[in-house]
Amino acid sequence: MNEMKHHHHYRDIESSYEHYKNVLAEAVAIQSVSADPGRRNETIRMVHWMKDYLAKFGVESKLIDLGDQLLEGNQVPLPPVLFGTLGHDKSKKTLLVYGHLDVQPAEKSDGWNTEPFVLTEKDGKLFGRGSSDDKGPVLCWAHAIEMMQKHKVDIPVNIKFCFEAMEESGSVGLEELLTKEKDGFLKGVDFCCISDSYWLGTTKPCLTFGLRGICSFQVEVTGIAQDLHSGVYGGVVHEPLADLFWVMSQLTDVNGNILVPGIYDDVAPMTDEERKSYETIDFDVTEFRDSVGAKRLPIEDKTKLLQRRWREPR
Ligand SMILES: [Zn+2]
Repeated sequence: MNEMKHHHHYRDIESSYEHYKNVLAEAVAIQSVSADPGRRNETIRMVHWMKDYLAKFGVESKLIDLGDQLLEGNQVPLPPVLFGTLGHDKSKKTLLVYGHLDVQPAEKSDGWNTEPFVLTEKDGKLFGRGSSDDKGPVLCWAHAIEMMQKHKVDIPVNIKFCFEAMEESGSVGLEELLTKEKDGFLKGVDFCCISDSYWLGTTKPCLTFGLRGICSFQVEVTGIAQDLHSGVYGGVVHEPLADLFWVMSQLTDVNGNILVPGIYDDVAPMTDEERKSYETIDFDVTEFRDSVGAKRLPIEDKTKLLQRRWREPR
């Protein structure tokens, strides 16, 4: 595309700001709190809203029913998963876009300065539950497609969408569905984009190409079943609470290094190239520290901090 055309598109994107904002406001207003059975209908409505919105741009979607879930003692319906398809060109690769349409709970009494479900612009920033996680990023795909179609820019890939509405509540039912659809809806997918992560700072978007996983363990320490008075028996019987504290304290040293033997054995050694790649990354430690509300961080060197965040088990 030539320079002139490029500028023309850019102006059109800029002048669509109010429109994009209104669409986001509509999505934010739907209180799709997946953890709240009382707002399950809203969560389901959000998926339908998204299906209708994508249909404007020719996305063919189907809603996959996941059945019911037992929540707070009641059987409640799970929100469906949206499977969408745009483009069937066999000469193009197929991208799968993942995003989620549910949000974490939010009440004004939790400390919000504005109504959580009313998108509010303040100092050039938009506040509203889900505006950045994850309704905004999901809508950006629709906006980009809309703009490309409007200006007859060829979309270089076929796109498949997988939008769920249980992400904030453990993605109930999603894994089973995706496993089942391996040779169904997911067939022919060349790469995936998880459109649900973060920016490097307040001004720099980033492409995340890997994330650390998580391992969960459960520890149980048991002792004598009956109540024993500490003034009479303290120190002469094993005390599970004290033993548990001791066990937990052995997991890391005071600097946060994990003490489990062998845990760092599988971490790939740092190459010079990788080490250098950190130097040019635009990341402001002070801004990051302020954003998490800490007075001090255990590590304030940019490169070491990013390595801790991105490549080390912690
Ligand atoms: Zn998210």
